[in-house]
Amino acid sequence: AKDSGKNTYQFYEKKMTEMALQKIQLDADIRKALKNREFVSYFQPKIDARNGKIVGLEALIRWIHPQKGLINPNDFIPFCEETGLILEIDKYMLTHAIKQILKWQQKGLEFGKVSVNVSTKKIESSNYIEELSYTVESLQFDTALLELEILEGQIMKDPQKSIDILNKIQNLGISVSIDDFGTGYSSLSYLKKLPVNKIKIDRSFIIDVPKNKDDVAIVKTIISLAKNLGLQIIAEGVETKEQLDFLVQEGCYDIQGYYFSKPLPVDECEAFIISKNRG
Ligand code: C2E
Ligand code: CA
Ligand code: CA
Ligand code: CA
Repeated sequence: AKDSGKNTYQFYEKKMTEMALQKIQLDADIRKALKNREFVSYFQPKIDARNGKIVGLEALIRWIHPQKGLINPNDFIPFCEETGLILEIDKYMLTHAIKQILKWQQKGLEFGKVSVNVSTKKIESSNYIEELSYTVESLQFDTALLELEILEGQIMKDPQKSIDILNKIQNLGISVSIDDFGTGYSSLSYLKKLPVNKIKIDRSFIIDVPKNKDDVAIVKTIISLAKNLGLQIIAEGVETKEQLDFLVQEGCYDIQGYYFSKPLPVDECEAFIISKNRG
């Protein structure tokens, strides 16, 4: 028994070493990927269900790995959050998204606001606002076309400090959406003081509507909360006609999800925008 314990230990030790090595490898791969521009942005359309028009796009990172092909964010973003590499990634993605906005604008396309995800680490970094204002100023574009998606949990960690940062973002003309709303235990007293424009209902509440009575109640509550606070509302992860009809009936018209479109590479998104612009 003693022996097998030792073997188990050695097994775990070996596993740990392997994992540590894997992380070192991944870290090096990501740094290389940043340098070689292997990260790209896909864009997922947000649609006004009443008329089918595009009201916005969300920029979502993809890693086009030279050997492994397309890698989704869930396979590397959590790691980047852990190591701090996310600071570089978010900076890269912001610039990437703005440059794409400028290109589409030059082609005369209309697509509403483009939203970019901002990680917790990024918001908390001491030079965040300086970096943000430097980026938007040096690229010379209309900040009214930019929206930042910030996780509810992040905002509520230190609401007072968030209010300060959010005000500075708004002063740059950039709007703010609270991402994954319903998962971050918002304090209602703070919610009304927050300088934000929009809340996005998390996909976890959308999956089982209109069947699940609890989720129906939650979604209805979030929609009326938004209305009463004068905030815009959008739902993410909408896949079915049933979910869509329920949301529209409850007064949530802005819809993001596979029902209308998956996140698309630039060219396909451009074709999508053109087809919708033609009406
Ligand atoms: P998120 O911000 O909640 O983004 C929505 C995710 O839901 C996206 O996954 C999108 O592809 C997926 N989605 C959209 N509609 C549907 C649907 O109808 N059904 C289902 N099943 N899924 C849907 P994705 O692109 O894999 O991104 C995952 C997460 O990675 C994002 O969740 C976000 O937290 C993070 N992420 C993506 N890009 C960035 C980035 O540039 N910076 C940072 N910090 N995080 C990012
Ligand atoms: Ca998001
Ligand atoms: Ca989300
Ligand atoms: Ca989500």
